[in-house]
Amino acid sequence: MSYFEKLRESESSFYRALWDDLKDIKVIDTHEHFDTIEAWIEKSQNNNKKDPKITIPQIFERSYIHIKEDGNYKQWAKELGQHRGTGYLRAWLIAMEDLYGLEAQTITPKYLESMESLIIHAYAEDFDNKTYNHLEKVLKNNMKVEKAILNVGLDLHKDHPQPICQAAAGIPSILEGIQVPRNINMAKGNVVFWYAMEKMDTNLEDIKTLDDYCDITIKLLEYLRESNDYVCIKMQMAYNRPLWFPEPPDDESEIARLFNKPPDNEKQLWKFGDYMMHFVLEWTSLYWRVPYQLHTGLARMFDGGSNALNLSHLFQKFPDVHFDLFHGNYPYNNLGGMLHQIPNISADLCWLPAISPTAAQRTLTELFEVGDMVSAWPYHVPSMRTCLYGGDSGIVEGSYGALQIAKDVLIRSLEDLYERGHILKTDAFDLAKRVLYDNPKRIFQI
Ligand SMILES: [Zn+2]
Repeated sequence: MSYFEKLRESESSFYRALWDDLKDIKVIDTHEHFDTIEAWIEKSQNNNKKDPKITIPQIFERSYIHIKEDGNYKQWAKELGQHRGTGYLRAWLIAMEDLYGLEAQTITPKYLESMESLIIHAYAEDFDNKTYNHLEKVLKNNMKVEKAILNVGLDLHKDHPQPICQAAAGIPSILEGIQVPRNINMAKGNVVFWYAMEKMDTNLEDIKTLDDYCDITIKLLEYLRESNDYVCIKMQMAYNRPLWFPEPPDDESEIARLFNKPPDNEKQLWKFGDYMMHFVLEWTSLYWRVPYQLHTGLARMFDGGSNALNLSHLFQKFPDVHFDLFHGNYPYNNLGGMLHQIPNISADLCWLPAISPTAAQRTLTELFEVGDMVSAWPYHVPSMRTCLYGGDSGIVEGSYGALQIAKDVLIRSLEDLYERGHILKTDAFDLAKRVLYDNPKRIFQI
């Protein structure tokens, strides 16, 4: 019996029975960053033109384990020793054991060598044929994922297996287009300029005013809506700026004057971003009312700017828009209270079980426990607005491991609730299905 299997065998009968019940449960995966095959091929070719191969640091990098690019198996094994105990490494070790039968209690150079060859072998055919069979097989057969929402570059999801892979429209760069880029390469990093060049055949020098920029933004949003592929909008700006979006000035000319001049300071950039955030929300609330996935929690930690509570003005101003708050807003630990009082939000714990299983379990338990004061709304009870799983990984092995940790956290949370008399034994499976499947399916209408 392998290492993690043995650990499970030593758990309580409640744990083991629910683990078995959840083995084949259908899952909606709210958030992934799977690389395209082209991106993998490019990486492997950068290493060695004659014998292209993906390296250990590149594999790990896609599931949040960062080690030095240069080195050999011995050095990497030593460096990985520093990662012992992290959720990220545990997720990876579980995946290697379950998917490939490669067991590791300690990481040795030999382990890494075997791991690398197993991964390369698993993806070899897809590399040759530019297909995604391995990814699709793991999602479908090993994870029982019915749909996974991909947050990749706009339209890149079209390469991934359909219809299992759906897409989030990642458009936070709309908030940062204060200056028209000087060249085409710089413009590719901003969805508005990308859209103007690629889909509208507009020259960058013809974008002169804030009005031009807003017009293209609307065209882009219309394009995303018409494509019917995007189940939600994804905004990830909390790494660059606070999540507080105050009301833009009544006099728009103040923003118009900022456009296409080098900003004096980051406050000006944020002011422009505030304006565009309200602009996009106003347009989508009228013409394309999809949920917003918002990165909250771990990001800019210096000043608390990444705390989801900063978004409250938007929750109030746009009551018809649904905001799906990512990563359990960790470490601010206030989602239970927020869902108790604010109706148009959901708690999405994607990535959190791998960041810290302890934090994930505590957050999830709270979300099961708390009731609410917003009962005029449909599905107002917080556990009806909680999504547990998204791997947030660039490689499917990382997602697989994260799912196993999410299930482990879920079972421990339910067992705790059962032992304290919060739920009956018969409630456990229903609540598990609620957060793994029913809620995300309803919220994203997939
Ligand atoms: Zn992510």
